Amino acid sequence: MISENLSAVKAKIDEAARRVKRNPEGVKLVCVTKGRSSDEIAEAVRCGISDIGENKVQEAKGKRPALKDMKISWHMVGHLQTNKAKDAVNIFDLIHSVDSVKLANEIENQASRIDKVQDILVEVNTSGERNKFGADPAQVMTLVKEIVGLKHVNLSGLMTMAPVVKDKEEARPYFRKLREMQTEVNNFLLTAHYSPLVALSMGMSQDYDVAVEEGATIVRVGTAIFGEAK
Ligand SMILES: *Cc1c(COP(=O)(O)O)cnc(C)c1O
Repeated sequence: MISENLSAVKAKIDEAARRVKRNPEGVKLVCVTKGRSSDEIAEAVRCGISDIGENKVQEAKGKRPALKDMKISWHMVGHLQTNKAKDAVNIFDLIHSVDSVKLANEIENQASRIDKVQDILVEVNTSGERNKFGADPAQVMTLVKEIVGLKHVNLSGLMTMAPVVKDKEEARPYFRKLREMQTEVNNFLLTAHYSPLVALSMGMSQDYDVAVEEGATIVRVGTAIFGEAK
C-alpha cells in the first residue's frame, strides 16, 4: 500500500515538474508522519523515503528511538513553541516553521549551546487566515533581516500552507505569492552580499502537483502516502 502510493506520488511530482520544464530531482518529497507509527515510518524508509516530517516535537521524540538505525532527515513542519526550541534543535535537520524573531533567537541560543548551525525556513501566512500560523507577509523582510545576522541559524528558504480548498487550482495563488516573496527577499540578500534562498516548502496531498508547477523544492505529503488518518 505505502509502496504503491509512494510510486504514484513520485510519478505525479515528475509529471508536474516536466509540465513546467523543471528537473524532478529538484523536488524533495518529505513524508509527513504525524499520527503514524514508527513501523509505518520504517516501511516508508524501506520504500526509499529519506525525509520524514512531524508536526509535534514530543511525537517525533517518541518515535525516534525505534528508528535510530535508519538514515533519516527529520523535518519539523508544525508550529514550534519557543519552550520546545531546545528539543527541536536536538532532533530536527530542518525546521520549516520559524515565524517570529523571538523563536529565531531562541533557536540561535539553543543551537549555539550544542555548536550546531540549525537549518530553518521562515513560514509565511500567505492566505492571511486568522487561524493560521506563519509570519504576516508584511513582516517577512524584517524577520529575514534579523535572522541572517544569526550565527547558528541558516535560513535556506520559505514555507507556506495553502488554505484547505475544494479545487487544487484555488491553492495556486498562495504558492505563487510565496515564490514572489522569495524573489523579493533574494533581491535584498544579493544586494547585501548574502546567499540567496533556494528552498520553497509548499504543497500537501491536496495540491502538491500545483505547488511543483509553481516552483516548490520541498513538498510535504502525508495522506496521499498513508491513506486517511485513522
Ligand atoms: C499534516 C501536514 C502536512 C501533510 O498533509 P496531508 O494533507 O496529509 O498531505 C503538510 N504540512 C504540514 C505543516 C502538516 O501539518
